[in-house]
Amino acid sequence: MAKLLEGRPIAQNLKQEIIKEISILGKKPVLASIMVGDNAGAEAYAKSQKKTAQDLGIEYQFHKLSADVAEKVLTEFIEKLNKDKSVNGIIIQMPLPQQIDYKKISQYISPDKDTEGMHPLNIGKILFNKAKLIPCTASAVMELLNATGVQLRGKEVVIVGHSEIVGKPLALLLLDKFATVTVCHIGTQEAGKIKEHVRRAEVLIVAVGKAELIKGGWIKEGAIVIDVGINRVADKIVGDVEFEEAAKHASWITPVPGGVGPLTVTMLMRNVVEALKEVSNGRKVF
Ligand code: NAD
Repeated sequence: MAKLLEGRPIAQNLKQEIIKEISILGKKPVLASIMVGDNAGAEAYAKSQKKTAQDLGIEYQFHKLSADVAEKVLTEFIEKLNKDKSVNGIIIQMPLPQQIDYKKISQYISPDKDTEGMHPLNIGKILFNKAKLIPCTASAVMELLNATGVQLRGKEVVIVGHSEIVGKPLALLLLDKFATVTVCHIGTQEAGKIKEHVRRAEVLIVAVGKAELIKGGWIKEGAIVIDVGINRVADKIVGDVEFEEAAKHASWITPVPGGVGPLTVTMLMRNVVEALKEVSNGRKVF
């Protein structure tokens, strides 16, 4: 039976480290959060960010813009925050209204303040194993893997899902640990090959958003299973992996909820501190 790989205790340790780092820096980091329009889910997420920030001694500035804001107004607002020396990090809450293109907008955030690690410059640095600001969900998965104490070198790692925020950056981070990485996606599914890849995974990471897409019986004996998926099914939150059956085969498995989720906000806060450290050190190149 698998051991439960929970995010909360790991987040607790990381939070202690963050508090220590802030006290060494002797400066209160400031995270500016931008929300466009109303969305209950995004408001709840922003609230949890605010609480975590306050617990850690990070100032959380919340800025709400109206749902019909023009792209130009939003980019000017971001530019203003870029120039504001008292602000260390900027996050744009999702979802954005239709008239706003997130991929375009996120490029207006100064790479130094890109606490979600989504600016092309920061994504590019991952390729060189030099990134300081890494997409939060991807770094949360790396922290969970680290907590198992299992060496990734030479391991067969299979990632299902190739999004910019999870699968793609994770593939690069895992290559830098010398894992053998396979990335599956909708094309793999269309070719009917998901099961054969999952079956040989010594480490399986799933980030698709389809309830129990991965059957428990496919899990290799002793595999580590990280389930990033969040799906609401009949008032219950479930992951992308059939948990009960998978737990019979895996050595470690993340619960949903309670696995990746509790760590993501902590990783965001770590990025805010990293951003402050970069500025304090005056580092611009690697
Ligand atoms: P996305 O929609 O951007 O990407 C989905 C990926 O799954 C794509 O690579 C797509 O090709 C692939 N895919 C779609 N259907 C498939 C199928 N039937 N078989 C195989 N692959 C398929 O998703 P995302 O933004 O990376 O999010 C994925 C899931 O992770 C969602 O449930 C999301 O809510 C969750 N998530 C959780 C956290 C967290 O903090 N726990 C953070 C981010 C995302």
